[in-house]
Amino acid sequence: MPKIDDYRSIVGEDEINELYLLAERLKGKAVQNINSTSVGGGVAEILSRMVPLLRELGVDYKWGVIKGDEKFFSITKNIHNSMHGVDTEIKDEDWKHFLEVNRQNAEEVDLSGDVVIIHDPQPIALIEKRNDFPPQKWVWRCHIDITDPQIDVLNFLRPFIQKYDRAVFSAPSFAKKDLNIKKMLISPSIDPLSDKNKELPLTTIDSVVERYGIDRDRPIVTQISRFDKLKDPSGVVEVYKKVKRHFDCQLVLAGGGATDDPEGIMVLEKIRTSAEKDEDIHVIYLPPSSDIEINALQRASTVILQKSLREGFGLTVTEALWKAKPVIASAVGGIPLQITHKHSGLLTYSIEGTAYYLKELLNDPEYAGRLGVNGQENVRNNFLITRHIRDNLLLILSLYHEGDIVHL
Ligand code: UDP
Repeated sequence: MPKIDDYRSIVGEDEINELYLLAERLKGKAVQNINSTSVGGGVAEILSRMVPLLRELGVDYKWGVIKGDEKFFSITKNIHNSMHGVDTEIKDEDWKHFLEVNRQNAEEVDLSGDVVIIHDPQPIALIEKRNDFPPQKWVWRCHIDITDPQIDVLNFLRPFIQKYDRAVFSAPSFAKKDLNIKKMLISPSIDPLSDKNKELPLTTIDSVVERYGIDRDRPIVTQISRFDKLKDPSGVVEVYKKVKRHFDCQLVLAGGGATDDPEGIMVLEKIRTSAEKDEDIHVIYLPPSSDIEINALQRASTVILQKSLREGFGLTVTEALWKAKPVIASAVGGIPLQITHKHSGLLTYSIEGTAYYLKELLNDPEYAGRLGVNGQENVRNNFLITRHIRDNLLLILSLYHEGDIVHL
């Protein structure tokens, strides 16, 4: 694991010194984070990097994971999708089961500490337990875009959300304005020193690419994502097919699942079937802990796509930009925060548009290179883990200084 001081050469002395100063003011405070999976997906990724660094800074930062059966995770997937605005039915008995599993977890999960941060809707009802540990502060950390949710689902969750002291969103546009709660904005981040993002020797990149049978001499177009309909892997295959008529390129669709996402296997099978007849489509199922593989695949890519239909922040985009890759990504969720169109990447709205831009980038490597360099600089300035740690320290401090809060 890298140490806090290892980041000085990447983000500068001042930023790191500020972290020590802020953390000093939180010495002795215990902060418990709860989410629904320890592997797969952006939330687990962020927590796994951030917890050790905050502990090194002297904050007792902890992380617990709720448990649930398959039915619970299929219900919470529906809740997740409907909060993103997808039309999904959640029956009364589903809500009953959702609350029951939350109640069971409330008995089993460690909810001690001065501050409890609950991530996303899955464990949201644990807030019912807050009176058992007074005087705690509770934060709901929402990583999804809830601007246009299914209103009945939001209405069910609203009384729980409003019991928290604070709700934290990844972007101004993600917050639902009529939620009666103090809100804060904290963008997610990536860790430049993690296996997924650190510099790799060329030999490592070559050996990963070779292992998957990918040809480094022809352009490689990649999307790394969980196999999830909302990441639109079949749209990516369509884009590739349109471009393949003009360019002899290869497509890499690589990803795994998350333990809280039961739909993944079905989506993977469907993509495998649609890719069967083309040797240049590489559908790669990645087991957990494939960080070096993801890093190498991104670094070997000519262009990286993220054609999501809906998105939270879109950490895969941040990871690709950090590697100075030209990225074409849908203008959904947090992606427009990361990409300024035609400056630090390309924003797209359709399969046709994505195919058009992909042809443009494959045709013009110099332009593609410029987009990549600008994208990397934007990530350095805004989306690295050190900035995120600073924001989290400020969030916790703000809970004890109510008057200083900036409201949305
Ligand atoms: N990821 C991974 N393995 C996979 C697919 C994705 O480790 O098979 C990582 C990816 O590199 C990124 C995170 O999971 O760090 C996905 O975050 P993002 O915000 O892009 O999407 P989410 O999965 O949270 O919807």
